[in-house]
Amino acid sequence: MRYLLDKFYNKIIIKGTLVGLSAIHIGTGQEGYSPQDVDNGIIRNGITGEPFIPGSSLKGMLRTYCESLLPSIDRKYENCCIVTENPCLEKRDDKARYTEDKDKIVEQTVRQIKDKFKDNPKRLGEVLYDNVCPICRVFGSQAMASKIQINDAPIKGKYIIEKRYGVAIDRDSGTAAFTKNYNFECISAGAEFDFCMTINNIEDDYKEVVEICLNYLKSGEVKIGGRKSIGLGAIQLKNVECYQITKENLRQYAREGLKDEMRDEACLKS
Ligand SMILES: [Zn+2]
Repeated sequence: MRYLLDKFYNKIIIKGTLVGLSAIHIGTGQEGYSPQDVDNGIIRNGITGEPFIPGSSLKGMLRTYCESLLPSIDRKYENCCIVTENPCLEKRDDKARYTEDKDKIVEQTVRQIKDKFKDNPKRLGEVLYDNVCPICRVFGSQAMASKIQINDAPIKGKYIIEKRYGVAIDRDSGTAAFTKNYNFECISAGAEFDFCMTINNIEDDYKEVVEICLNYLKSGEVKIGGRKSIGLGAIQLKNVECYQITKENLRQYAREGLKDEMRDEACLKS
């Protein structure tokens, strides 16, 4: 079974609340943290000025978790790539890959496949899909749109922004460089964010990938943003609601939007 994104097969929507178990620092720009900057602000919505957790940070964190875990879970994930290091469309026996830009090699491979099937777009989609690993099929790659989308998670209710102070470490001596103290903003523990993840056309075979991601988010072990090493960034997904849209209720969903009767907490069990 292979579901491309050219027509509707199914849609799963997962909503919930991300709760900050510790303070969270997601910096501007690099979504991380740089001791070089004196004042490390947190990322905020450009219009409202409210802090949020970028969907891209959440998705990247889940992908990394899957890349490290799935190959040890089942043989079908054995060939999963680590997309930043050896993307699966890279020609593995090509010596050029050690010297050339990896993105260019992937681009070349994609172009070759595209040239070969340029008169048959449906087949082209299928061949590309078959040539990428299960994680790229679910999370997307340069050649393939993602089945998973995670919205930016806006903060809701009351929250506190605190300023923390740190001591920069001198890289050469490994000791505190007392002249280089810095401070950074973070959102105090207990903040709540609206979480919404949409999964389009997931095959039964890969529902467990989503289930594993969801359980990870619910576990309380997830950390996001900067300064994780001192305990910042712990988040936990709570009040989870799963909805499933199938061909049977697609008309209602299209006309009326998400309804309570579309709730299906077992939709990830294949
Ligand atoms: Zn891959």
